[in-house]
Amino acid sequence: AQTAPPVLEAEDVAVHYGGIKAVDGFGLRLPAGKIYGILGPNGSGKSTFLAAVTRLVPLTRGRLLIDGREYHTESPTTLARKGLARTFQTVRLLPELTVLENVQLGADTNASGGRLRSWLGRDKPSEAVEEAIERTGLGDVRSAWPGELSYGMARRVEIARALAARPRLLLLDEPTAGMNHSERQEVSELMRKLRDEGLAQLIVEHDVQMMVDTCDHLVAMNSGTLVAEGSPSEVVSHPAVQEAYLGK
Ligand code: ADP
Ligand code: MG
Repeated sequence: AQTAPPVLEAEDVAVHYGGIKAVDGFGLRLPAGKIYGILGPNGSGKSTFLAAVTRLVPLTRGRLLIDGREYHTESPTTLARKGLARTFQTVRLLPELTVLENVQLGADTNASGGRLRSWLGRDKPSEAVEEAIERTGLGDVRSAWPGELSYGMARRVEIARALAARPRLLLLDEPTAGMNHSERQEVSELMRKLRDEGLAQLIVEHDVQMMVDTCDHLVAMNSGTLVAEGSPSEVVSHPAVQEAYLGK
């Protein structure tokens, strides 16, 4: 039997900004239903790589494939249709909308203007929205305003909004940045639960412990290139990773 192609495949990806080689020859193959992590110090090119995968920045070189099919410039809507959703490094909730309404925004990435108002006015949220709220444990705060939430809860709403598009692959840029220890553990648990329900995830973080606790596989990045790849324990003990993090 033929094995399924990876959900996401990146080959020799480079993104240069003029003379700045933000990403310069990086790749990975993420199988369905696994959590992969990109580990790297600040400025190593992690966010730029996610921007490349979501086609927010043009590639200087390389190839990107979803389910074995190369894809090029896409709108967020076509990427969502291919099963890809993401969260950003900073929380981007709309303060004038409730938790439920913020999650509804994710169900249709085309949302704008009258169309947006029309389905926010609907009396019943879609099944996908209800499911996203339920999976992320936000039922009790669905009518709350973002300003009333703890930072950890606000992050959870971001994840719920991405899940409302029913992705098969979720990209998370520093999902636990600014969180305390117990909030981090909660998010890590949530990711593993979503993985066990079949959602592939690509996480970018510089918190080594969080990555070791959460990921099935790690890819270490430094100065835009891949420096090590393998199981979390292999990667964190790799000399290049030790050097990047501990100055050894
Ligand atoms: P990370 O997410 O790992 O902290 P980034 O991808 O944000 O790293 O940045 C990688 C490098 O690219 C950094 O040197 C950063 O200053 C540079 N960079 C990122 N975005 C831009 C941009 N829009 N224009 C120019 N340089 C950028
Ligand atoms: Mg970043």
